[in-house]
Amino acid sequence: MIEYENLAKLNQPFLEEFNSSFQKFLETGWYILGNSVRSFESEFASYCGTTYCAGVANGLDALILSLKTLNLEPGTEVLVPSNTYIATILAIVHCGLKPVLVAPDIKTYNINPSAIESKITPKTKAILVVHLYGKLCDMDAILPIAKKHGLFIVEDAAQAHGAAYKGKLAGNWGDLAAFSFYPTKNLGALGDAGAVTCSNAQYHEVLLSLRNYGSAVKYYNDRVGYNSRLDELQAAFLRVKLGHLNSITDHKRKLAEVYFKGLKSDFILPDRHPDFYDVFHIFSVRHEKRDQLREHLLKRDIKTEIHYPCPPHKQMAMKGILDQQVCPVSEEIHATTLSLPISYFHTIEDIHQVVDAMNAF
Ligand SMILES: *Cc1c(COP(=O)(O)O)cnc(C)c1O
Repeated sequence: MIEYENLAKLNQPFLEEFNSSFQKFLETGWYILGNSVRSFESEFASYCGTTYCAGVANGLDALILSLKTLNLEPGTEVLVPSNTYIATILAIVHCGLKPVLVAPDIKTYNINPSAIESKITPKTKAILVVHLYGKLCDMDAILPIAKKHGLFIVEDAAQAHGAAYKGKLAGNWGDLAAFSFYPTKNLGALGDAGAVTCSNAQYHEVLLSLRNYGSAVKYYNDRVGYNSRLDELQAAFLRVKLGHLNSITDHKRKLAEVYFKGLKSDFILPDRHPDFYDVFHIFSVRHEKRDQLREHLLKRDIKTEIHYPCPPHKQMAMKGILDQQVCPVSEEIHATTLSLPISYFHTIEDIHQVVDAMNAF
């Protein structure tokens, strides 16, 4: 049996380090916003190459607090790729803003820069780019459009820890960038966790305040804030994982190489280009008979996933919000995409087995 993901196996190599972090955590007795949060924030900022990082409770909150920091007027339009995970859209809606869907590029699955300008109106103030599956968006094409129209850029980097475009990492390209450390992400905690990176001191100050009741000085509240702090224990575990993130990425890239070399040309493989350093949070292939292919693999004891089976504009929760928007490219992707096993615990041999089963389809 080849599982799609197994968190116990994924984290097994780090157990000793987790245990020693946990012991230290128990000894200090400091449970909220302590040294582990502070240290992780500075280590993750320096990993990404940003000046600041603010730890928050999860990826959705990272997106919400990023948008709140920009202080946009209610009803402001925010451009967002139509094939993203629902959390990206929810963040916009929760902030009282209007999500405007932009078609993805059918090759990269990221927002199509040439589809952006036709969606800009006088009410548009931001683009929420999503580095989907662990590949950066085409930022050289997007940045000039944002500049020309005076739009903020927020990155949803929840799937792109360590991914880069022209040598510059995710988290560095927008005014603010939201990360998730949900357990299955490339940098995953042992529970919920997230962060916002930026290089603007004022934004950073607002974020630190918003995540902690809108307060900088205890019992004095300057803003209508939230309780969305990065948990101290998760920060301690994340420091351990961050130390291994490059090996995790290297391993996933090696597994991806086995797919690229081995899979026959019937499958549409992820786009590759030397300017992009992809981290393969997800290895997506497309095939017209996706459901049959999935069934075929399951019969051979190989588990796969679909990211995502239902596009945001077709979700029940988005009735009256997105259901008037037309998204043929994302419907095509949602109908044909299949995610193959590519976890840190998978071996090269596992992936060869998947390749053989795929090629027998
Ligand atoms: C996982 C994910 C999120 C949300 O992160 P949580 O930590 O689960 O809240 C947001 N956007 C994308 C693209 C994601 O993959």
